[in-house]
Amino acid sequence: MSTATLFIDGTWVAASDGGTREIHCPADGTLVGTVSEGTADDAVAAIAAARSAFDRGEWAAVPAPERGDFLLKVAARLQERKAEFARAETLDTGKRLVESEIDMDDIIGCFTYFGKLAGQNQGRLVDPGNAAVVSRIEYEPVGVCGLISPWNYPLLQSAWKIAPALAAGCTFVLKPSELTPHTCMLMMDVLDELGLPKGVANLVLGAGATVGAPLSEHVDVDLVSFTGGLETGKRIAAAASATVKKVALELGGKNPNIVFADADFDAALDNALNAAFVHSGQVCSAGARLIVEESIAERFTDELVRRAQLIRLGGPFDEDAETGPLISAAHRDKVTAYVQKGVAEGARLRCGGTWGTGDLEQGFYYTPTVLDQVERGMSVVVDEAFGPVVTVETFTGEEEAVAIGNDTHYGLAGAVWSQDAGKSQRVARRLRHGTIWINDFHPYLPQAEWGGFGQSGVGRELGPTGLSEYQEAKHIYHNI
Ligand code: NAD
Repeated sequence: MSTATLFIDGTWVAASDGGTREIHCPADGTLVGTVSEGTADDAVAAIAAARSAFDRGEWAAVPAPERGDFLLKVAARLQERKAEFARAETLDTGKRLVESEIDMDDIIGCFTYFGKLAGQNQGRLVDPGNAAVVSRIEYEPVGVCGLISPWNYPLLQSAWKIAPALAAGCTFVLKPSELTPHTCMLMMDVLDELGLPKGVANLVLGAGATVGAPLSEHVDVDLVSFTGGLETGKRIAAAASATVKKVALELGGKNPNIVFADADFDAALDNALNAAFVHSGQVCSAGARLIVEESIAERFTDELVRRAQLIRLGGPFDEDAETGPLISAAHRDKVTAYVQKGVAEGARLRCGGTWGTGDLEQGFYYTPTVLDQVERGMSVVVDEAFGPVVTVETFTGEEEAVAIGNDTHYGLAGAVWSQDAGKSQRVARRLRHGTIWINDFHPYLPQAEWGGFGQSGVGRELGPTGLSEYQEAKHIYHNI
């Protein structure tokens, strides 16, 4: 297999120093492929290609509705190649095939949404209050974008950046996680086969500190959009400040899932399990803090623990499996240490806290874990586990529910379960998180903004704001 897996200036090339990296499936360790491990020089070459393409202006000169049509063609091509993409995503991440197929639907939905939006946001007239003046706002592409994405939803998180960047007329360098490169390579193939001008879309692969860092540091990058962990986000924001780039950050979460006593018990329970354990909890919006009204807390927690122990772990192509492995041995060690620290601080381990056994020993499986008797300030209620771990806290009444829900430096997402619509709306409005679900968990819409309050990030993806992030507003004031 060729290791010419970096896509720079319309050409597939190998790393300039010949370096490679093997990608193994986290479910069983099988070799998925060998790709180039890029260097900082490769990243700089990709930035130069994106800069030159932007400065030539070919893509930005394509009328916005036609750029939108291109995105709709991408959506159609992804639909045709859906099975190939889903399989590649599953092999890289170890997630169940059915989840990768859902991700593909969401990716196609994202390109379709921005394809339709592209032509609708072409500027507006401003009333200058003076008949001798024509005043107009035009939206221009920001320029060269550095797009950095994580391993949990490798192509979906990248698509949330690629689609609006292209809709706006930008050029970009994409750097997916070094652990999960394959679907982003396939994406470049689609953009190339559909005739995107060379240099508009570039792909570099490799370690964050090597090929990712230039995307936040280089003077020729105008915007860096990053999805990943809080500490990396801080480093990127600091590096980007030296050249005053625009910065968009989609970081972690410690998301409250608040269950009132008057909730539909079964629906709340089903969703609490899904919120905490789907994709083994490796979801930025995972419902990792379950906050249950005191009067039902014991029954709810007992049932949660009983059901969590029944969750079937298994490989990505095992149709009976309900959740899969963690991404790597290192990540499993991190989750293991996190749970051990919580227990040492006084949390009670109700279930889980162990590695997969038997056939699962070849992968990085971790059993669904419930911790209760937790208290404010304990690391397990403060820090993101990014694994199949849920803590249970209790409350009495709306005030306390809101106080606990907001007791986090993050602010990405949360949920409220109650059959009292007035109460759930009141609580939803007071929670300081970017998305609040009422009587549901996890659904998102491409037409609705996604992003975080507090240290969950800066800026928004999706929705009209998700396109604006890639645009500069220019005011043209014409004194006739
Ligand atoms: P990570 O921060 O370790 O890595 C994310 C990306 O940044 C990777 O591509 C990595 O190579 C790159 N990177 C690392 N160091 C870098 C540097 N110095 N400069 C530039 N790039 C660098 O995160 P991860 O472990 O891949 O992903 C998990 C995190 O992502 C979790 O915290 C999760 O909550 C977050 N996440 C957030 C959202 C959201 O929408 N808010 C979505 C998915 C994941």
